[in-house]
Amino acid sequence: MPSLDEFARQKLLALEQAHLRRTLVPTGRLNDLFVERNGRRLLSFSCNDYLGLAHHPALKAAAIAAIERHGVGAGASRLVTGDHPLYGELEQRLARLKGTQAACVFGSGYLANAGIAPALTGRGDLILIDELAHSSLWTGARLSRAEVLAFRHNDAGHVADLLKDHRTHRERALIVTEGVFSMDGDRAPLAELAALARDTDAWLMVDDAHDLDFASASNAGVQLCIGTLSKAIGAYGGYLCASQPVIDLVRNRARTLIYSTGLPPAVVAAAIAALDLIEREPERLKLPLAKARSFTRAAGLPEATSAIVPVVIGAAAAALSASKLLEAEGYLAVAIRPPTVPEGTARLRLSFSAAHPDAEIARLGAIVRTRILRNA
Ligand SMILES: *Cc1c(COP(=O)(O)O)cnc(C)c1O
Repeated sequence: MPSLDEFARQKLLALEQAHLRRTLVPTGRLNDLFVERNGRRLLSFSCNDYLGLAHHPALKAAAIAAIERHGVGAGASRLVTGDHPLYGELEQRLARLKGTQAACVFGSGYLANAGIAPALTGRGDLILIDELAHSSLWTGARLSRAEVLAFRHNDAGHVADLLKDHRTHRERALIVTEGVFSMDGDRAPLAELAALARDTDAWLMVDDAHDLDFASASNAGVQLCIGTLSKAIGAYGGYLCASQPVIDLVRNRARTLIYSTGLPPAVVAAAIAALDLIEREPERLKLPLAKARSFTRAAGLPEATSAIVPVVIGAAAAALSASKLLEAEGYLAVAIRPPTVPEGTARLRLSFSAAHPDAEIARLGAIVRTRILRNA
């Protein structure tokens, strides 16, 4: 067998034996709640479409109108001819929502995170990053060539110690974390991190892909606020909100912006329509957390602090069985395994949407309490 194929087979076999092999499962999203998988209709607790906007008629209509007017693809990088007129409007709206001077939209949240740290830091600089930060934040940190040190999850004291030991030898320092952690649902100590950043002339970058309180980072004094249009906004793309000079620099230096084609106009138009809806109906933003809290009460778990609730099982195989059990009950709750989460903390990662019916949440909570946590 050719050595490349042999290499691939060996690697896959090792993953299989550790219950860590992943496969793509064709999944149709039927509406804001239900998916179709393996011929079955399942109520999903695994989508990040927190506000149920991906299927909203207003977003669909905006996307269709944009295709008719601007075509399907952007045709080039934003810096060449791909900066179609909808981008300017979206960026203004995002800056307003986040409470910053300006915004820059990237092709995805992953591309934003891979591009921003290298645009602002380099050799001789220091990056302190939460050990549980999203893969894309680690990618950006490593691509920057700065010295990268991990700090213990949400431990501002550890950040202070690392700054004390390492800040003075470095020209620039960047602290990187998530506002709401994607696999744990807990929140970073933003006020403490912002104070440390101020005191040591470090810059604070926060990825708020999962925070439904869009102004919380800039209100806490975060200078670099990252978000995604792919989750609560129901469309696709990523963004940075920051001061005008920072945004102008990033547009000049972020390779993942400069060397990648602009987003399809339909996606940008849908994101604008989502922001319209959110501004018109801000009460929507409170629902996912309220739903997550009613679940944690029903399941006997610590009270939810965001729309994300981890049901930590431990072993990867056990997390897969728990996911199968819920599937048999009509629910989709995908098992999350290492390396997405640390070894020994495989889990069901549940995300709650404004649209989840209360009766289903109560039933799911009871099943998790009596049949999953009891055995874990
Ligand atoms: C999903 C996610 C991203 C990536 O965003 P995409 O727009 O899906 O590429 C980045 N950071 C965090 C914390 C995420 O959860």
